[in-house]
Amino acid sequence: MNIMNRFPIIDGHNDTLLKLHLEGCSSERLFFSKTSVGHIDLPRARRGGFSAGFFAIFCPNSSGPMLPDFEEYMTEDGYDFPLPQAVDYDYCNHLTNAMVADLYRLEADANEKFKVLRTADELEELIHIETVGAILHFEGAESIDKDLNALHVFYQAGLRSLGLVWSRPNVFAEGVPYRYPSTPDIGSGLTEPGKKLVQECNKLGIMLDLSHLNEKGFWDVMELSDAPLVATHSNAHAICPISRNLTDKQLDAIADSNGVVGVTYAVNMLRPDGKLDTDTPLEMIVKHIEYIADRIGIEHVSLGSDFDGTTIPDELGDVTGVPKVVKLLKDRGFSDDDLSKLTSGNWMRVLKETWK
Ligand SMILES: [Zn+2]
Repeated sequence: MNIMNRFPIIDGHNDTLLKLHLEGCSSERLFFSKTSVGHIDLPRARRGGFSAGFFAIFCPNSSGPMLPDFEEYMTEDGYDFPLPQAVDYDYCNHLTNAMVADLYRLEADANEKFKVLRTADELEELIHIETVGAILHFEGAESIDKDLNALHVFYQAGLRSLGLVWSRPNVFAEGVPYRYPSTPDIGSGLTEPGKKLVQECNKLGIMLDLSHLNEKGFWDVMELSDAPLVATHSNAHAICPISRNLTDKQLDAIADSNGVVGVTYAVNMLRPDGKLDTDTPLEMIVKHIEYIADRIGIEHVSLGSDFDGTTIPDELGDVTGVPKVVKLLKDRGFSDDDLSKLTSGNWMRVLKETWK
């Protein structure tokens, strides 16, 4: 039995739906056939032991790039990207509907090889079979109106995980800008509609994702939410002091709530120098996992790749490279029990507790 059959992976974040939507069927990018485009397609997912993951729906900025050119902003002392402007509800709601429809078209065409998950029981069943599971996640709540009507509709359409913000402001909260070095304490906390959104997600059983949220917003959610705190794709600030990573205090709060952190493979969030350099060894991923496990316990660390949404180490390549990380962890002394928690058990626990 190979290492990935023993440790099937639940992954905290990918942007594959956005890539498929933007690149469309005219591109080289396919989902059901193996290609070398991007990081995830179904055959590569299965080869990499990817059993299920949070498939994000994200509305790009209505104009300009997602992030400015690193080279342009990088100085000896780091960088400070301006916060992108808020995006419009109508634009984002329309685009989100289109991408949710894409997801269900994929499921319909998949012949049981790809399934959208709505319950912890479904997730538990699927982890032992070859079908790849998708948890519907929104990265930013811009497609939801202040009255939260759309939240109920999207819940019925399968939404089970919601990031209040991406790294920009919206009517609910403020995302943290990309700044290095910097604490995440930039900007103000949740708005009144943001607080209502947290409570409504608790009621419905929608997981709240704190990656991209600024620090004041993080503490507001901690005060309000009765669910475990989760950051689906963030790393340790103590190793890479970028604004997007979690401080020790935030890690402690996640552990206190019985929550989990998904370690991301974004090179600029792994490397101590914060650079967008793909010549980053896989040991850097291991270092973040070890740091978080040492500080708050292996029960509170998992994987959150950000495949198809970020720049990853060359050595990793794509989803088929993940077994190399698991092997490295095993060589570093992580037990089978630790690895089982890290690769899937911790996500299972948190989702069982959060989804009603
Ligand atoms: Zn992200």
